[in-house]
Amino acid sequence: MIKAFKYRLYPNKEQDVLLQKTFGCVRFIYNQMLANRMAVYEQYRDNKEALKQQKYALPADYKKEYPWLKEVDSLALANAQLNLNAAYRNFYRDPAIGFPNFKSKHRSKKSYTTNNQRGTIRLIDSKTIRLPKLKNVHIKLHRQLPKNAAIKSATISQKATGKYEISILVEWEAVIKPITPTIESTIGLDYSSRSLFVDSQASSPEYPKFYRLAEARLKKEQRKLSRRKKGSKNREKQRQIVAKLHEKVVNQRKDFLHNVSRKIANNFDAVVIEDLNLQNMAQGLNLAKSTNDNGFGMLKRFLQYKLAEQGKQLITIDKWYPSSKLCHCCGEKNNQLSLSERTWTCQRCETTLDRDVNAAINIKLEGCRILGIA
Ligand SMILES: [Zn+2]
Repeated sequence: MIKAFKYRLYPNKEQDVLLQKTFGCVRFIYNQMLANRMAVYEQYRDNKEALKQQKYALPADYKKEYPWLKEVDSLALANAQLNLNAAYRNFYRDPAIGFPNFKSKHRSKKSYTTNNQRGTIRLIDSKTIRLPKLKNVHIKLHRQLPKNAAIKSATISQKATGKYEISILVEWEAVIKPITPTIESTIGLDYSSRSLFVDSQASSPEYPKFYRLAEARLKKEQRKLSRRKKGSKNREKQRQIVAKLHEKVVNQRKDFLHNVSRKIANNFDAVVIEDLNLQNMAQGLNLAKSTNDNGFGMLKRFLQYKLAEQGKQLITIDKWYPSSKLCHCCGEKNNQLSLSERTWTCQRCETTLDRDVNAAINIKLEGCRILGIA
């Protein structure tokens, strides 16, 4: 298994200086290499064969001209090159993603990745991690890495609030016995913009409204920020307030989604959900805010790995499956059902159905059919 674990990092003053320098060098080398690729392209754009033969500049090529690049972790620079290659690949695969952007000191995320080379990244004790160039850094290990986990790489980043975070990518051997689900131990979830989801047992999570409350405050503080004079001390203070509030909201939402997904993954052997294109949905129905802050996509990701760790399955069913329109009792299809109808009565078997619960049961049944346990 491969998984990333995130922790807070507490560098001392010297380490803080070096981290800032590394973020700067990574941004610099990324922008240099991007400019180089763009220049080479301009020069040979009319000669595709010659363009293919061209070699692009590497991080090492810049070290002579800019010797200060040698002061930082060279693997961080090498990873900047890999990131640029990936950005190009993504752009070629799907131009809608956009051409790689130059990184900006203020707008871009401060982050770099380094690799473990025979123990260059390792835990020294329960409060200390060894990192290339930085040496021993204070870490808050709020949870243990899996036993026998081998550290592959680490990504160190700084948030808008100034807090440091480290994401440690580890690989370990795990013996996971696959669990065979039954109809009883399978649950279906129907996405709901109001309450995140409704499940096939007719319950939905108690979605706390803290986000909306905090969001109202966030908006107020953001308006205040826009009125502050650029470059002023007050603006910087206000920017910190906004960043802190934003971070709090994001963390609360994550905690909530972790709790909900943990309960489901522990109580059921298989979970069935619809394959929703949430981005399109948010735009199409103008539900952007509720869809996004519900975080159904994030819930899906959390469920996926929490189930997989226990040998359980997440089943995704086709988004064209008419889960709302079928009567789960007799299978009759109601083609007239409109979005505003919250309950409806089946014309064939005369059962009165709650729109969301009926959809969740149908999603479960379709999942059971796919699993071969219907
Ligand atoms: Zn019916």
